Amino acid sequence: MATSGDEHERTMAFAEIAIGQIKALRQPATPRNFEVWYAYATGYHPSLNESINEILSRRGRLTEAEVEHICNSFLSPTRLSERIDVVGSRVVDEIDQVMAMVDVAIGSTNTCSESLAGVSNELTQADREGLRAIVESLVHTAKEMESVNHTLEERLTASKLEINQLQRHLEVVRNESLTDPLTSLSNRKFFDEAITKAVQEATAENEVLSLLMTDIDHFKTFNDTYGHLTGDQVLRLVAQSVKANVKGQDIAARYGGEEFAIILPNTVLRSAVTVAEHIRRAVMSKELMKRSTGEHLGRITISIGVAMLRPGDTAQSLIGRADACLYTAKHAGRNRVICETDPEFASPSMPATAVA
Ligand code: GH3
Ligand code: MG
Ligand code: MG
Repeated sequence: MATSGDEHERTMAFAEIAIGQIKALRQPATPRNFEVWYAYATGYHPSLNESINEILSRRGRLTEAEVEHICNSFLSPTRLSERIDVVGSRVVDEIDQVMAMVDVAIGSTNTCSESLAGVSNELTQADREGLRAIVESLVHTAKEMESVNHTLEERLTASKLEINQLQRHLEVVRNESLTDPLTSLSNRKFFDEAITKAVQEATAENEVLSLLMTDIDHFKTFNDTYGHLTGDQVLRLVAQSVKANVKGQDIAARYGGEEFAIILPNTVLRSAVTVAEHIRRAVMSKELMKRSTGEHLGRITISIGVAMLRPGDTAQSLIGRADACLYTAKHAGRNRVICETDPEFASPSMPATAVA
């Protein structure tokens, strides 16, 4: 597990790059400039970096207006709370407008009922001419009602389209809020909900469920040697190896800094170990090279712990066992998969069997 000290070092590396750029370009050290350059340093928004690189290669500097434009184009739209507010206020507007239309329609219906009541009174004493006038007024009222209904119908159809569109917007925002920007895997928030649900469902349906917990080996040393930015690229690469080896209903998530968790529904322990082995081999088979310099960075390895749901398990106890297996894998020498039935693994939750 990454400590807050690691997090400090990692984020300071980004902050230093950001300050370095502000100094080099002699820009005002405003929070906005810092935010743009910090985002640039993380590389989380590839199109922001491309856009900045393109301007710099053309003119060697960035104007205030360009910084503002970049901020608005790439960073402001990513502020989820603001986007949720926008969608929220559009929903409120839409409801207000529909309510106003419904009020108008109710008003017309009342007027129509009143005029019908008036007509029924008049009918009792009407002569031929009077009858004609009454029928005309009835036709007029019916036409008015038809027109009000027609407008309401059109408004409701438009509103339905608008609400469908808002629903899609919300879906996009929600997906982003549950996705890790560096690796595009699900984030921890999504994982926490997904594992709880998966454990509940498997328990209720009496189905099997396995969980993998992975951790990169000696990653601190890698970062210290090659820098956190290169480390981040490695995280992307490991995430790709994970993605390439899971399928349909499996859920792969970034659990922590350099830890990934994979939920495998309907998967027994043996099959889960096979998936874990595939991921482990995929990672170690990659010869790492720094794209910018062509420098060879060797290979990295990962360790994986595998556990399968048992009766009485909670999400927490299942995670605990997979984590304990991972810990055993680290102690057994790293670059390996350990599952809870392996002899190396002595589960703390399983009391030792007494032998005579
Ligand atoms: P071990 O084999 O025991 O796992 O050794 P380790 O050095 O990998 O130890 P540990 O798992 O405790 O270290 C986590 C390191 O991962 C610390 C930090 O440098 C790095 N790290 C965590 N999150 C990130 C990240 O988002 N980006 C980068 N580049 N490095 C990260
Ligand atoms: Mg770790
Ligand atoms: Mg590690």
